[in-house]
Amino acid sequence: MVLEITHIGNPILRDICVEVPEDRLLDEDFQTFIDDLIETKRHTNGAGIAAPQVGEPFRIFVVEVKDNPRYPYKPEAPLTVCVNPRLKFLTDERFDNFEGCLSIPDLRGRVPRCPHICIDALDRDGKPFTMEVKGITAGTFQHEMDHLDGILFPDRMKDMHSLSTWAEFKERHEEAFRTQVESVVAKWGS
Ligand code: ZN
Repeated sequence: MVLEITHIGNPILRDICVEVPEDRLLDEDFQTFIDDLIETKRHTNGAGIAAPQVGEPFRIFVVEVKDNPRYPYKPEAPLTVCVNPRLKFLTDERFDNFEGCLSIPDLRGRVPRCPHICIDALDRDGKPFTMEVKGITAGTFQHEMDHLDGILFPDRMKDMHSLSTWAEFKERHEEAFRTQVESVVAKWGS
C-alpha cells in the first residue's frame, strides 16, 4: 500500500524517533509496514524514505536507487532496510550534495555530507549488519538518518542561496552538479 507522505510543517518530522522494539519488528503488521514503506519510496521515486515521512515515529529507513527519474545522475544503490541504525563518519572530508526530500516538495539545496561512513543496523529480520557506504550514496544514508532525529536538509545547508525549485535546479545547477557527482564517484566509487 502506498502511504501518505508527511510534509515540512508537520511536527512528526521534527520528533526524535523511537527505536523499533526488536520483538515488534517481526510482527506481521510491522513487516507489512516495511513493505508499504518500500512501496511508497518506489511510487514517489525517492532515493530513500524514513518512517516519520509516512507518519510513523520509528527509527527505520530504506534506501534504494535504481533508474530514478528524480535523480538520473545518482549511482545505483541496492535496496537496504536499516532498523535502529547507528552512523559513524570514517573521514573528515566533506562534499556538497544537492539534495531534495519527498517531505519538502519542489525544493533542493546544497548540503555538505561525509563521503565515507559506516552504518550499524538491524535488517528487516532483526539480524545485525555493518556496512560501509561511500560517495553520493553515503549522502543519501545521512539524509535518511537525519530524518530519525528530526533534522531536515535545509537545517544542514551552510548557505541558503543554493535553495532552488526543481525547475530552476534543472535549468541552472544540474549540469555543474552532474560533473561534481562524477568527480565524487571517481574518487569514492559510488
Ligand atoms: Zn528527506
